[in-house]
Amino acid sequence: MHKYEIAHMLRKIGTLLEIKGEDPFKVRSYERAAQSIEQGSFDLETMAREGRLREIPGIGANLEPKIREMILTGTSSYLEELSEEVPLGLLDLVKVPGIGPKTAWLLYETLNIDGLDALEEALQKNLIRHVPGLGRKREETIARGLSEIKVFADRLILGLAMPVTQTLLDNFRERTIRGIAVGEIRCYVEAVSTIDLLLMASEEDLLKKEVLDGLRASLKEERTWLRAWDPKQRAFVFPTNLGVPLRIYMAQPEEFGLKTLLYTGPPEFNAWFEEMMRSKGYHFDEGKLVKDGQIVPVSSEAQLFSMADICFIPPEVRHRPEFWEKAASGQPIDLVQLTDIKGDLHVHTNWSDGIATVEQVVQKALELGYSYIAISDHATKIKVVKSLDVDKLEAQLEEIQEASKKYPAIRIFSGVEVDILKDGSLLLPDHVLSQLDVVVASIHQDIEGSDYSVADRLISAARNPNVDIIGHPTGRFLGRRAGSSKGFEKLFQVAASEGTFLEINAFPERLDLSEPLAREAASAGATMVVCTDAHSPEGMEDMVYGIGCCARRAGLSAHAIANTKDTEEFLKMKKP
Ligand SMILES: [Zn+2]
Ligand SMILES: [Zn+2]
Repeated sequence: MHKYEIAHMLRKIGTLLEIKGEDPFKVRSYERAAQSIEQGSFDLETMAREGRLREIPGIGANLEPKIREMILTGTSSYLEELSEEVPLGLLDLVKVPGIGPKTAWLLYETLNIDGLDALEEALQKNLIRHVPGLGRKREETIARGLSEIKVFADRLILGLAMPVTQTLLDNFRERTIRGIAVGEIRCYVEAVSTIDLLLMASEEDLLKKEVLDGLRASLKEERTWLRAWDPKQRAFVFPTNLGVPLRIYMAQPEEFGLKTLLYTGPPEFNAWFEEMMRSKGYHFDEGKLVKDGQIVPVSSEAQLFSMADICFIPPEVRHRPEFWEKAASGQPIDLVQLTDIKGDLHVHTNWSDGIATVEQVVQKALELGYSYIAISDHATKIKVVKSLDVDKLEAQLEEIQEASKKYPAIRIFSGVEVDILKDGSLLLPDHVLSQLDVVVASIHQDIEGSDYSVADRLISAARNPNVDIIGHPTGRFLGRRAGSSKGFEKLFQVAASEGTFLEINAFPERLDLSEPLAREAASAGATMVVCTDAHSPEGMEDMVYGIGCCARRAGLSAHAIANTKDTEEFLKMKKP
């Protein structure tokens, strides 16, 4: 048993006990044990056999036999016992925003809801509003929560999938095997259902001992390589601890171009492309390109596109047939690129809840090759967040001026991320905002109000002549909160006519505006900015997710995005 699996079982037990209403101290002891097993590097099997598990912090006399059983048998009779009292489906219920352990139990006792399917059925019949203590509003929250987690169940946000993929590819490269990410990762899908790699290798290459050892080490995976071979998918398929499988496909050098395309997908695009190739006398045969009975070697995708006489279609828009037609008619597809970005306009420092100083942020911006950077700390009513007020803003301004003198190669804009209040007004007065270079206005509180009021609040902020950018417009958090985009048609129009920029927030859990909304905003004539909302210098590297998942998938070119302009041009585009 892998240590992560043990931790997972312990957490299951903890949650079941919590749902049952057990003593919180007892509940917490399972989480503590899970954490210490997860973070430590113990030889669990030996320790279990020798009866030494209690040497691990957090494991006492009560937990020791239960964990020993898990390690030695892979099962837990205690967990089975518990699941007779509390159905395991309740573990899914508590993941729904709006349902805690107490509510899960209440729903089970009153309506016999024992999992997500039963929950969905009860929502359709409007049964939840009649449960004492819940009511209509709560029912709506749960319904929204369910639709949100259903989309992201069994998916991993790209912000986590991408770095893992990079590590794996680096690991293979060290062992002289070249590879790339394909599938949803290459298409910048915001949350992926698999991690797909294509390696330029043969099965035999991958079975070499040093490759296996390297892979096992980077996956922390103890299962054998051979057991992972799936003849149907012609791939090595591994379970990972991230909740999504890893699939490793292989290609010979002469197949690499076609297999890159085929494993990137989506299938509808592949079918269309094959049709186009057929009209040129080619066909596909098990990942090989064939013409007149001969295999035609293709080492890159670009080569394939030119053989088909089609302009290159970037993976991010292969799900959109209108781009296929465009490319086939010889029009190049021009999408914004990471290297087009000239500055980040939404970054936090230690003046609010960021961890870096103004100077560290500026240094990072220089490292990223930016021409400008806006320091936009919070002016907020959120109690847990350190906030700017008028005095602190003035003090921060001095620090910004100092940094400007020290780093003349970059323009440092003074800024703020100001709260939009319940009535659509802003937390700071206009005479203060008008002193700043870049004002981001965002909603951080009372998001769960009526849907229309969110759009109305954003619209009144967008009409304020001092507001340059509407920050993370819908307020969504992937897998946790759906956010609200009701009434956004009007917001997009107002933003377009007032010259207020709409943010594409690149933070991997936000990606807000999402692809469909960014597309709508652009067709309404609104201009966007892609910003990271970084709270650390490393966070400023998240720009790539806003560019890939939102802007490029929406089909936007650099023209639609204000922070691709150089400093002078940006200042001209911005409200005076
Ligand atoms: Zn914010
Ligand atoms: Zn922010």
